[in-house]
Amino acid sequence: MASAISQNGWPVIFTATDKNTTKIPHIIGRVRAGDVATIFTALVEFIDREVESLERGADDWGGNVRPIRGKTTGYSNHASYTAIDVNALLHGRGREGTWTPAQAAKIRGFLRNQLENVVRWGEDYNRKLSIVDGMHFEINANAAAVARVAAKLRGEKAPSTTGKTPTKKPAVTAAKGSTSLLYEGNPKNNAARIKKLQAGLNRAFPAYSRFAGGGDGKFGPYTAKVVREFQRRTGLKPDGVVGPTTIKALRKHGINV
Ligand SMILES: [Zn+2]
Repeated sequence: MASAISQNGWPVIFTATDKNTTKIPHIIGRVRAGDVATIFTALVEFIDREVESLERGADDWGGNVRPIRGKTTGYSNHASYTAIDVNALLHGRGREGTWTPAQAAKIRGFLRNQLENVVRWGEDYNRKLSIVDGMHFEINANAAAVARVAAKLRGEKAPSTTGKTPTKKPAVTAAKGSTSLLYEGNPKNNAARIKKLQAGLNRAFPAYSRFAGGGDGKFGPYTAKVVREFQRRTGLKPDGVVGPTTIKALRKHGINV
């Protein structure tokens, strides 16, 4: 058991812990922590933002120890927590043509240009070897290649970082002094921060956050509604109050308020 590997060569995780697996946006369940999580986070956020909402239901899945579908031996890449399924109810295994050509082109472009093909898409399986699996994405590279792409993805968000420790420090420092609460009806609301909040949500989550004119800097009922939606989707208490926890979650999406 100790050396069991899944189809792509990654070690099976028999017991998922907080250390070796993690939660990422949109996906129910967990994925492999670290570089794999970085890559899948970028992928699902891209799909949700640019291709198709991933908020249609509880059908976006992560790791799970099980055999390869349709086979009795060998571990699925879900067993090493290096595979995810998105919008499974729409793009179930074995169903051809569930993505439009335009959607597929966008996804392929992202896999090629941003992820440098370290992720393989079940839509592109060789039909002689496997049936189509349009919901399914899996790591298809070794740890070194995955680490390189993940570092690139992280680097794009924090360009000054090459090493280990400095990564989070600038953000933490920047957040100091700007963590007073923003919420509807707060007399101390700061218009400049609210504008950043509105513009950031609008940019990152256009599917549910469309502000007329990109945000007016006023925290009204519409802004509160969008904040609550963000909180709900991030697993936070949907109270519409932008406090330290929500600020931290927003920062993961490049929204600094
Ligand atoms: Zn799958």
